[in-house]
Amino acid sequence: MILVKNLEKYFGSHHALKNINFKINRGDKIAIIGPSGAGKSTLLRCLNLLETPDSGYIFFNNMEITSYKKNINRVRQKMNMVFQYFNLFENKTVLENITLAPIKLKKISKEKAVNKAIDLLDRVGLLNKKNCFPKELSGGQKQRVAILRAMAMDPQVILFDEPTSSLDPEMVGEVLNVMQQLAQSGITMICVTHEINFAKNMANRIIFMCEGTILKDATPEEVFNNPSSERLENFLNSYKSK
Ligand code: ADP
Repeated sequence: MILVKNLEKYFGSHHALKNINFKINRGDKIAIIGPSGAGKSTLLRCLNLLETPDSGYIFFNNMEITSYKKNINRVRQKMNMVFQYFNLFENKTVLENITLAPIKLKKISKEKAVNKAIDLLDRVGLLNKKNCFPKELSGGQKQRVAILRAMAMDPQVILFDEPTSSLDPEMVGEVLNVMQQLAQSGITMICVTHEINFAKNMANRIIFMCEGTILKDATPEEVFNNPSSERLENFLNSYKSK
């Protein structure tokens, strides 16, 4: 479904992504882990061209999207993103946040979009918040709404950029629960995360990044039982001691 070949990205003289290569199959749940500054978010943002790679190729459904600039919005509709800081529209209600893109971009009727949003909100226990504005919600509730907003577009892939790292610890669980629910629906998910246990449970593959390269791309079993790199081992050990 997604093929990344020889991807390179520089920020000035900083070589943020170095010859990145990997494949993602339909239905994959990928966790991208690694130390801060490893290039995880940059890689995720390159996938839907929020960052422009300097060289290399990204294919999505056999189409090379790195040379497909004009229709990037169509790519983003199919490859939706959930951000660390939610990025909800503050002047719109929860319901409006969820229905805006399906109505405007996918030309779905308002009635259909609202019905779908209500169904999604109900599934995660947030129906009573449908007329609230984001400022009236907790961080965990905002992030759950942001996830529903992505789901409302029926994307093929959802990219998650550290979706729980701006949350108070007591709110992390409620967001991970919704993501776990989503994972079971069969959708393709790619998630940059510091929640190592979540990565272990949710992902069928873990990509470990360090200093702009992929040091390991393997199943959770392989990553945890046979890290085969000192850096990965040290990284995993740093979580054990927390
Ligand atoms: P991670 O997600 O693994 O913490 P990032 O992808 O955010 O890492 O960043 C990788 C490196 O690129 C870091 O050194 C970061 O400072 C740098 N970087 C990221 N975005 C920018 C940017 N827009 N401008 C300059 N440097 C950036």
